Amino acid sequence: MTGSAANWQYAPAPESTKVEIKTQYGLFIDGAFRDPMSGRFFDTINPATEAPLARIAEADGRDVDSAVQAARKALKRWRRTPAIERAKYLYRIARRIQERARELAVLETMNNGKPIRETRDEDVPLAAAHFFHHAGWCDKLHFAFPTSDGKHPASVGVCGQIIPWNFPLLMAAWKIAPALACGNTVVLKPAETTSLTALRLAEILQEVDLPPGVVNIITGGGESGREIVAHHDIDKIAFTGSTEVGRSIATSVAGTKKRLTLELGGKSPNIIFADAAIDQAIEGVVSAIWANQGQVCCAGSRLLVEESVADEVIAKLRHRMKSLRVGDPLDKNTDVGAINSRAQLDRIEHYIKAGIAEGAAHNAHNDVALPPKGFWCRPCFFTGVQPAHTIAREEIFGPVLAVMTFRTPDEAVARANNTMYGLSAGIWTSRGSKAYEIARQIKAGVIWCNTFNQFDPAAPFGGYRESGFGREGGRSGLAAYLA
Ligand code: NAP
Ligand code: MG
Repeated sequence: MTGSAANWQYAPAPESTKVEIKTQYGLFIDGAFRDPMSGRFFDTINPATEAPLARIAEADGRDVDSAVQAARKALKRWRRTPAIERAKYLYRIARRIQERARELAVLETMNNGKPIRETRDEDVPLAAAHFFHHAGWCDKLHFAFPTSDGKHPASVGVCGQIIPWNFPLLMAAWKIAPALACGNTVVLKPAETTSLTALRLAEILQEVDLPPGVVNIITGGGESGREIVAHHDIDKIAFTGSTEVGRSIATSVAGTKKRLTLELGGKSPNIIFADAAIDQAIEGVVSAIWANQGQVCCAGSRLLVEESVADEVIAKLRHRMKSLRVGDPLDKNTDVGAINSRAQLDRIEHYIKAGIAEGAAHNAHNDVALPPKGFWCRPCFFTGVQPAHTIAREEIFGPVLAVMTFRTPDEAVARANNTMYGLSAGIWTSRGSKAYEIARQIKAGVIWCNTFNQFDPAAPFGGYRESGFGREGGRSGLAAYLA
């Protein structure tokens, strides 16, 4: 064999970008695309290149009102549609997502910046899985939610759903599938930086002949979201996004009859005990904080390591971090893609500076050359972190990990719970009894043991405390969409 391992390189393996993208997209209201009343459009870009992709309609209050009216009108017919027929629509949507999977994955990667490997293997298949799972529920709801007259439980009504940019298609599926399964109609707003896959989903809804008005997709910025929340004829708001906006939504909905579920931020602990399979745990850390560039609400952004194995874990983590391939998200070899927006990159860099200023040690993956254009952040972790440090307390929403140590299981639990959030946690140990004991004491909606970031449509997802309330997925997720 000639050539050393050190200069061995992957050949680039870029995915083809041959997908249809229109120059301009209207609002999807009452089964058809139409221009916004204001006539205003904004550019959506590829965050990996900063190249504009399309122009997206900006909805104002009048458009939101039309969408809500369409959803209200459709509600009567949709509620009367036999459950087994509703199920067929959901199955068709799921099948169509599968059939158009490559196109959806490419579109998502181009608009969001996340690696094609993730959109192809996770986002899109999981989105289809959510429709499949909920299709199965449609005609079985009365078994899980018995009513006094033995009939199907009633739906809530018109649902306003507002989603973030980190899992654009998947969040749309999480929101729409259970709502439709239960017989609700929907007005959904994707995040302004990532509207393309939601609009492609609207085309799929047309293809499967979903009755007009059952799902309406309103694009625009935070103001369009505010209009949905404030609309008088909406029965329920489901929001996923920042704790700050979630708080303002809770305030504006308080005192009205609107129902509300909030899926907000997190600062989740990932705990490695000395008896864990360390190499396996390192892979879990990689997925917990560097998947999707760390822009994950349930990211394991605080690593708590038992002191006796801290040196080993940190050395192995550094080694593993340096093997991450950062760059073109459309390349199938890429592990870490682009940050979704300039604003998000600025926020992450602000936190990295704060970490350094407060005295923690910054360990970054400096071995790669970053592309000249686009929004890039090197994967990194901080050691020497104190619980009081900003980077140990606040959600960064980027590829930045805070590493801390503990000596006893009690200290691990105390440190894990030392947060205003409570979305997820990871526990790494080879002892089942210990995993159980620790999981019992941790305040978080989802706890993974010897794995991280595993999602399944049948498993409820959601938080405690400042991470929000309400659950999505499984039987608990359906409850939120039934009266
Ligand atoms: P965000 O503002 O909370 O965005 C979430 C969604 O809410 C977007 O569709 C957004 O529209 C919309 N929105 C904004 N203001 C609204 C309002 N007053 N009323 C109704 N809807 C409103 O989050 P962001 O600005 O994109 O990100 C900020 C931080 O939030 C991130 O750094 C991260 O820490 C956190 N975050 C958390 C999650 C999560 O899954 N938990 C997801 C994303 C972000 P626009 O797209 O136009 O803003
Ligand atoms: Mg925003």
